[in-house]
Order: sequence, then C-alpha cells, then structure tokens
Amino acid sequence: MRFHIVTLFPDAFRGPLDVSILKRARERGLVDVRLYQLRDYTHDRHHVTDDAPFGGGPGMVLKPEPLFEAVEGIRRSVRAEGRPSLEGPLPVVLLDPQGRLLTQAVAREMASHEEIVLVCGHYEGVDERVRERLVTDEISIGDYVLTGGELPAMVLVEAVARLVPGVLGSEDSAPHDSHAQGLLQYPQYTRPATFQGWSVPEVLLSGDHKQIDLWRRRQSLLRTLRRRPDLLAATDLTAAERAFLKSRAAAGEGQPPPVGNVE
Ligand code: SAM
Repeated sequence: MRFHIVTLFPDAFRGPLDVSILKRARERGLVDVRLYQLRDYTHDRHHVTDDAPFGGGPGMVLKPEPLFEAVEGIRRSVRAEGRPSLEGPLPVVLLDPQGRLLTQAVAREMASHEEIVLVCGHYEGVDERVRERLVTDEISIGDYVLTGGELPAMVLVEAVARLVPGVLGSEDSAPHDSHAQGLLQYPQYTRPATFQGWSVPEVLLSGDHKQIDLWRRRQSLLRTLRRRPDLLAATDLTAAERAFLKSRAAAGEGQPPPVGNVE
C-alpha cells in the first residue's frame, strides 16, 4: 500500500516511520510512504505557502495553489504509472479536526485502497476551496486540536498499515485487538505466572483452549461493558452473550448496555 503525504514538515515523519513494524513493512515493500514538501509547489522567490485570512482574524491559512498543484501532480503520476488495480478515483484525505472520526472501521476502509493521498494542514488550517474542491475525505483523529496534520497523518498511516496483509508478524493478532470486532481486548499476561504474589488467572495455564477462548470472550465483553458500553450498541453478540451482559449489568458491573443489543 502506498501513502502520498503532502506536508510542510516532511522531517517530522522520519522517526516514527523508521522503527519497528513500519520500518520492516517498508523494507519489505508492503508499505511505501512518499513525502511531498508543499514548498516545492510554490513559484515565488520566498516559497510562500500561507497567507492571512480574508476578513481578518488570527493566524495564517494554507494557500490553495500549492496544495492543488501538489495533489494534481500526484494524481498525474499515479495515472502515468498506470497502476492496473487502482479502482475508482484516488482518495485524497485532509487531516482535519472537523473531519469524520478515525475509528477501526475507517482504518479498514482506508486499507482497502491501493494508495491514498494525505494532506496535512497547518497554522489556522487550509483554504476552504481545498476542502470543497480538492480532497475527497476529511479525517480527524479526535476531538482536540493539534498544531498540524503531521501527527494525525502518522496515526492514520500506523492504524492503516498494520491492517495490510503481511505487515504484522502474526496474521492472527489484528482480529483480536481492541475495536477489531467492536469490543475491547481481554487482559493479557506473560511470564512469570506469579509476580510479587499476583498470579495469572488459572484458566490461562490450563492448556484448555476452549475454556481459554470462552474466558477471553467473556473478559472482552465485561471490559467493554465497564469501560465503553457505547461500543456494545454496534457489536454482533449472541443471545447467550447478551444474557451474560445483562446479568452482569444487573449485578452493577457497569453501565447498562444500550437498549436494543441486550434484551
Ligand atoms: N482552525 C482549525 C479549526 O478550528 O478547525 C484548526 C487548524 S489546526 C490548528 C491545524 C491543522 O492541524 C489542521 O489543518 C489539521 O491538518 C491538523 N489537525 C489539528 N487537529 C487535528 C485533529 N484532531 N485531527 C486531524 N488533524 C488535525
């Protein structure tokens, strides 16, 4: 999968993309990240990319011309390379606190593309015509405001890249992670079996995989009930699981799950 990232600060990406799983994925050609310095798409002596907002007010706004030129250049080069499996228009995503929230479902949706363009805003943001006429999507990483789109773009690349087949060491791990199936993950333990007198739940040492799976599923359900009952509304649950949650909620284990999913 290929990410084209348009940014005023390509250096910001160096560390995070050069370690651990992302580094290996890039070395193995599973993930390709191409950085585009926005200033390279200006034509004045000072490489100006921002200007004061019309109507007054604080801060500076990223000008439309360099952003359009950068993205249109990427579109042209993608077309020129004639990537055969590229279906539909190239997704161009503006990282923006006003965008739709990045969730695991959104990450999965992004991972279904062969390549995407990420546009990082800065200062007071981007000229509205970029939002209206250039990008095809806007994504926020949370209801708070950062200085620029670089960290959000890295978060998106991380969340999406680990879903690309082959990127994770164990193909098995992503489906068990929190949010993969609408639940939080069960508790995990490793050696030693007893640490400072605190022991690992016995079932995990039993070697009985059916019981372990059952324990884990129930722990996932309970954890979600206690910490994020809002997630249960959109999660597929069996009748037995609903009954289990209902009884635990009645016993005061957590907020009652949303009506509709727990009968
Ligand atoms: N003035 C804008 C507003 O109130 O909506 C905020 C601009 S913010 C200071 C500058 C840039 O940081 C944005 O253009 C965006 O690229 C990035 N950014 C900030 N917070 C973000 C978030 N929660 N998710 C994604 N991008 C964000």
